[in-house]
Amino acid sequence: DIRVIASPVFVSGEVSGVIIILLDVTEKKNLSDLREKFTANVSHELKTPLTSIAGYAEMIETGIAKPEDISGFAARIHKESKRLLTLTNDIMKLSELDELSPNAIQLEKVNVSDVLREIVSALESLADKRRIQIALPAENFFILGDRNKLYEMFYNLISNAIRYNKDGGSVKVVYEKNAVIVEDSGMGIAEEHLPHIFERFYRADKSRSKETGGTGLGLAIVKHIAELHHAKVSVTSKLGEGSKFKILLNA
Ligand code: ADP
Repeated sequence: DIRVIASPVFVSGEVSGVIIILLDVTEKKNLSDLREKFTANVSHELKTPLTSIAGYAEMIETGIAKPEDISGFAARIHKESKRLLTLTNDIMKLSELDELSPNAIQLEKVNVSDVLREIVSALESLADKRRIQIALPAENFFILGDRNKLYEMFYNLISNAIRYNKDGGSVKVVYEKNAVIVEDSGMGIAEEHLPHIFERFYRADKSRSKETGGTGLGLAIVKHIAELHHAKVSVTSKLGEGSKFKILLNA
């Protein structure tokens, strides 16, 4: 998008020419379009659980709910409010990240292997429930970065690798010279979805995402954190066979 600004030039009271300025506002417009779209999506995503909470609470309050329904309705209210909490947490994380520039993060030498071990122990019960094996590299790997943010980034990748896996499947983390790779033997991602999965609220598999408490924001957070660390995240995947997410450092 180009904005045109034209202004006449006067020499001794007479118009002697025109200055035309062409401003390329494409990036600004794209950014504001994206913000508008995000706000619309946030409103929609918050409205869905809120509507059902309000509905169930009203049925209990007015006595429409039979006594035997009440505990089921309370469980729905509980579930939907937890969903709202996860959503607002992720939205807040993203807006905090939006405010940060790569120069603003606290750098320290982080042992990624330690971080990964913490993540795996936090996700152990989720993996065990579906007999999913997680293999970490034996050696250490260091990244100069913000430990909490790196935790968040790898947590999102590994929890996705578990949530979108098959029962009895596997997750493997591999180090390359300049990269960390999270590989899974899960359901994979169809080619038409691949270019979009890092977008906010984009879900390739809506039902699995909702069922496992997904918000559609995890990979947007991953991409953001990678970029703050001058890293690039990429994905290759084969439907029905699995996916491979690569964090390439110094990209
Ligand atoms: P969600 O909260 O829905 O998991 P994400 O932003 O983390 O959101 O991921 C976006 C979408 O990408 C998911 O809804 C899912 O369809 C797909 N996806 C992400 N990771 C994987 C994976 N390891 N295997 C298959 N699909 C995945």
